[in-house]
Amino acid sequence: MSHSIEVEDEPSSENQPFIKPKNEFFRATQSPMDFLHNNRLGSLLMFALKWGMTVFGYIMISIAMVLFTLLIIFYFFAITPLVSYNNYIYATLVLVGIFLAFNLMFNYIQCIRTPPGAPTQEWLDEVEGKIDELRRAGSSIPGKQFSKYCNRCEQAKPARAHHCHICDKCVLRMDHHCPWVNNCIGYNNHRYFILFLFYLWTSAIHVCIVLSLVSLDKVWYNEEIWYQWGTWLAFVNILSGSMAVTMTGFFGWHVYLLLTNQTTIEFQFNKFKVVTAKRSGKSSLNEYDVGMRSNVEQLFGTIDRWIFMFLPSITPPPLSGCEYPTLSNYSRIEV
Ligand SMILES: [Zn+2]
Ligand SMILES: [Zn+2]
Repeated sequence: MSHSIEVEDEPSSENQPFIKPKNEFFRATQSPMDFLHNNRLGSLLMFALKWGMTVFGYIMISIAMVLFTLLIIFYFFAITPLVSYNNYIYATLVLVGIFLAFNLMFNYIQCIRTPPGAPTQEWLDEVEGKIDELRRAGSSIPGKQFSKYCNRCEQAKPARAHHCHICDKCVLRMDHHCPWVNNCIGYNNHRYFILFLFYLWTSAIHVCIVLSLVSLDKVWYNEEIWYQWGTWLAFVNILSGSMAVTMTGFFGWHVYLLLTNQTTIEFQFNKFKVVTAKRSGKSSLNEYDVGMRSNVEQLFGTIDRWIFMFLPSITPPPLSGCEYPTLSNYSRIEV
């Protein structure tokens, strides 16, 4: 794999000359976030945001853990016993339940505990000689190009990396900061995030279908069970039903981003680039979209059998996260 870094190769950059912002309020190479960090009131606000979001993140993780645990207990101790009259159906539901519950919790915990990825020392050493060039090339003017130098970390920033102001560090291929996992979603844990959404979606659909069938079959015609479990069954059915609907949209959106090799941040930026290019009669391509299979393999590793993608694995993704194949350098970097 090549490690050569050419500043001119930055695909999201159109190598435009640096344009001084009209608003003199911000210094030329200073983004609004840098400005906040560099004055007393602003840094106090950023400090409050950072710690406020961290505490909020722990609360969200606790809520999610309690919810998942209750759902798992309810599934194994209330739903499946209702079909214990048939050994085959009972065993199938228990096995499917164990598979879904294990994968759901595995990917959720991995998403929380896996660092999203930071610029590697090897990459930082490689670009050391180009720091001044990178600093000059930096611009945080919306729609122009992302800065190649982080003023906050005072170090070079790889392509696709962004500084998270809650984690207070540069994150490789940053997607977003997720309060539900109290962590950034970046290159190293994006795969766990997508699989977590997948298992949340399939678990919700599974619980919803089983609960509906069991309710119709047993509870509806049995007044005793209805009085005992009716309210809870209806509550869990509504909860899993609404989760299934929400997750269809959210998981579908992340599959689209995965297949087109975009992050949530890049999607906004790419949209802007397409609109701007159209205005001047040109077209704009996402340079990182190098084909569906390669796009998926950049996060999941080599896919020989697609079913393996869904199984639990702690193997890190194949790239360093500091450089990626693009339409122009595809032959130079192999996944
Ligand atoms: Zn940074
Ligand atoms: Zn973050």
